[in-house]
Parts: sequence; C-alpha cells; structure tokens
Amino acid sequence: MNYYEKQITEKDKKEIREFCNIFNLRVVFESYNYADIPKNKIYINEKYPLSIAWSAIFHELQHFICYREGKFLKYHNMHKNYNKSWFKKYIRRMGLKIEIYVDIKAEELMNIYLPDIPYEQAYRTRESQLSYKEWIKESFQ
Ligand SMILES: [Zn+2]
Repeated sequence: MNYYEKQITEKDKKEIREFCNIFNLRVVFESYNYADIPKNKIYINEKYPLSIAWSAIFHELQHFICYREGKFLKYHNMHKNYNKSWFKKYIRRMGLKIEIYVDIKAEELMNIYLPDIPYEQAYRTRESQLSYKEWIKESFQ
C-alpha cells in the first residue's frame, strides 16, 4: 500500500483515536497540528495522507512524553510562558533544537509501533527550519 497517497478514512481515525487513548490523549481532526498540553489533546490535520498523519501523531505524542518525563518543561509549558520576555529569548535559542530532538525520538517510537509506515520527518530540512524560525520571529518579537 502506498501510505503517501492513502487518505485518512474513518477506520484510520478510529485506530488513531484508540492508539492515542493508550496515552490518555484525545485526538481532534482539524486543519493543523498542535499538541494542547494542558488539555491532553492532539490536533491533527485530517487532510494529510495516512503516513504523514501517523508521523504527525507520533511527533505530537512525543511532546507529551517529554512533558510527562519533565523534559524541556519551559518549552512544553508554552501556554504559561508565552508572553514572558525571558521565554522569547529562550525559545529563539532552544525552540528548533527541541523540535529536532522531539522529531528524532518520534521517529524512533513510530518505527517500533508502525515499522511498515515510513516516518515523515519534521524540522530536519533547511526549508522547514526556516519556516519554524519565521514563526518564532512573528510570534515572539
Ligand atoms: Zn513539535
């Protein structure tokens, strides 16, 4: 099966929901990806092909795993720290490094659970790193 072409079906959504339920996380199918840490919710773009959706799920899941393990707590408490001036400096210095770490760990985890589905890396191409830096610039002036 070509996971890059296969769109998410209702059955896939059910599987994704059941998987995330193991980690006590609820999934909301939306038009963007986001880990809502205080609410234990993962938002996933439902327009993604299946392999990219699963990769995004594992990436966001890894943010929760880090948070629960106490890793990068300043970053994962973004909802609390968003407007603080020290946080703006911190995220400019650390944000991309943390995202890359999270993405490497997410790939390792997905290769264990879903070895047949190729992981779609995030934050590891120059292009995606530049767009992250753009977002940081706009969001944390
Ligand atoms: Zn991330």
